[in-house]
Amino acid sequence: MVIDFHTHVFPDKIAKSTIDALHSNSGNIPYTDGSVQGMLDAMERANCDVCVTLPVLTKHTQFESVTKFVCQINEKFSNCERKLISFGGMHPQCENIYEKMVELKKLGIKGVKIHPDYQNTFIDDEGYLEILRSAKKLDLIVVTHAGIDDGYIGQPVKCPPNLIKKAIEQVGLEKFVLAHYGSHLQWKEVLDVLAGENVYFDTAFSLHQIDENTFKDILYKHGDDKILFATDCPWRDIKDDIAIIKSFNLGKETEDKIFFKNAIKLLGI
Ligand SMILES: [Zn+2]
Repeated sequence: MVIDFHTHVFPDKIAKSTIDALHSNSGNIPYTDGSVQGMLDAMERANCDVCVTLPVLTKHTQFESVTKFVCQINEKFSNCERKLISFGGMHPQCENIYEKMVELKKLGIKGVKIHPDYQNTFIDDEGYLEILRSAKKLDLIVVTHAGIDDGYIGQPVKCPPNLIKKAIEQVGLEKFVLAHYGSHLQWKEVLDVLAGENVYFDTAFSLHQIDENTFKDILYKHGDDKILFATDCPWRDIKDDIAIIKSFNLGKETEDKIFFKNAIKLLGI
């Protein structure tokens, strides 16, 4: 079984334009057309069972429309074997953050995505701390983009390891997922500052860039119970990243935890 904990889909009518814009901004090549069907095709190619899809609110005013799309996805796949599970999106400038997250919880949504670079706010901002505190109260998962974003090269990194550590110390949310293996392209600091903290690292958009020794150093210091297989598809093809994990020869027990067991536990499915 394979669960991909970090993927993206867009409503059909904006899928192509969104993918085109993100591609020209970051230079990264898309492996799907951004649609739900495109993601299902990628899952089919990889024999992947479940994808967690993570919407990003680039403006706080998008909360309602994104939540509507999220609910449509979750309803559509509720009885499917191969399925998408969509998280909600939150923005640090949302008003009534706690109430909004209560609303998401009531809708059966398991967690929220935040993206400090796209949201132009540092992770230790009061808005994000309120999101993390609310998630802790409501037993929701928070996935944050972490580290350098390819679309924002040369600008201050809004969610680097030292600031993440500050947020962890202030809130202590256990169901906190740091994307891109703790912090994209900042793996030395991840090893020094974050490995061993009571948070999760997903492997999204990092397996093709990290060297095997660094991957293993972080894995062994952090522990294999808190690592989640993830790709960032459409920005990686799921099947290619499965092959990279397998090439690391981690042993069946660790592989199973990374590919699905840790995710099943965290999602409660
Ligand atoms: Zn992503």
